[in-house]
Amino acid sequence: MLSQGITILGATGSIGQNTLNVLAQHPDKFHVVALSADTNFFRLAEQCNQHKARYAVINDVNQAKALQLALDKLGCNSEVLAGRAALSDVVCLDETDLVMAAIVGAAGLEPTLRAVKAGKRLLLANKESMVIAGELFRKAAAENGTTIIPVDSEHNALFQVLPANFENGLENVGVEKLILTASGGPFLNRDRSALTHITADEACNHPNWDMGRKISVDSATLMNKGLELIEARWLFNATPDQIEVIIHPQSIVHSLVGYRDGSVLAQLGMPDMRTPIAHALAWPDRIETGVERLDLTDLHKLEFFPPDLESFPGLGLAFQVLKAGDNAPVIFNAANEIAVDAFLNQRIGFLQIPSVVSAALDSCETGKIEHLDEVLDYDRLARDTTSRIIHLQNGS
Ligand code: NAD
Ligand code: MG
Repeated sequence: MLSQGITILGATGSIGQNTLNVLAQHPDKFHVVALSADTNFFRLAEQCNQHKARYAVINDVNQAKALQLALDKLGCNSEVLAGRAALSDVVCLDETDLVMAAIVGAAGLEPTLRAVKAGKRLLLANKESMVIAGELFRKAAAENGTTIIPVDSEHNALFQVLPANFENGLENVGVEKLILTASGGPFLNRDRSALTHITADEACNHPNWDMGRKISVDSATLMNKGLELIEARWLFNATPDQIEVIIHPQSIVHSLVGYRDGSVLAQLGMPDMRTPIAHALAWPDRIETGVERLDLTDLHKLEFFPPDLESFPGLGLAFQVLKAGDNAPVIFNAANEIAVDAFLNQRIGFLQIPSVVSAALDSCETGKIEHLDEVLDYDRLARDTTSRIIHLQNGS
């Protein structure tokens, strides 16, 4: 097979680094076209040098000079591009066959959607894009014949155990339920009162996965599972009542599909993102990853519980948002991004995150979404509203 050209949006993050780790094991199958970062020019330069990227793209234009100097110092001749538009430009290049969307948050939406419109195979980690603009993604993928392969471990698991023609509607292919597993994060089984004084470092200390700080906080609040519910709705053309969440603290069963005849199919593996990343990179083939093999006899137990929506109200909110549809997911996501940022910067407490999001959902106007501009407008409005709510709640 010809070597495939890949562009990684968000190369310096946790998913980006794991992707480069897998790529480095297969220099005959893939080559790097472009790598991007928000501000971390130093790591980006090192990655471009190591992986011989044709383009080094920095979102923050103020870091472009520093990036160029860092590349010169390494003797690396990757071409420097800077600014938001450059992110979209590199995904559309002829040399780009695959796009790994690994920017965190709604900031990834525009270049990720551009990849779908350009008909590039999309490896989707940036779940927030799908949450806020799922319908636009589905339409663009259908119009351009684009394949979207989920990288999020649960959705990648579902993609692996669903029949190939799931796009025809889940009930038409015998599927009754998509069952998303959730580890429960670092505070599973902790009483709500014990969560009041949680610090950012405690929230980011996930028991099974090593991830970026935003998704780590989302995992601790279970907002991550809430986002994943909505992500699953769009990725698999599911109705809200076809999706369930169960707590599975060991993170070995990555998700399950329940069929009409009573069969339940699951995908299992060690909690290591290189497995779903490699699956998405090589699909429909399989490639080596260096991931530790699962030894079932070595595991003491696999447990499953219903989620506790009282201790983790964010997940309950997500079920309501999923049913409400329209712009509710945009408000939910934007409010959560602002609240998580405020928590990480010690401006609000851990338990305030879902309450701030709930207040934002109550305060923002509802509306339909047909165009990207509407997503961006509602996103901006929800961010402003949420910042005001935080200001008011803090009495400052
Ligand atoms: P991270 O914070 O480690 O990395 C984020 C990357 O995005 C960095 O390269 C950063 O430079 C870039 N970035 C941040 N803000 C940007 C902006 N405004 N413009 C352009 N680039 C920007 O995050 P991560 O943990 O790698 O997660 C990335 C995405 O993948 C998230 O949507 C997350 O929910 C999803 N995801 C991550 C994991 C995981 O194991 N880390 C698992 C499943 C899904
Ligand atoms: Mg996940």
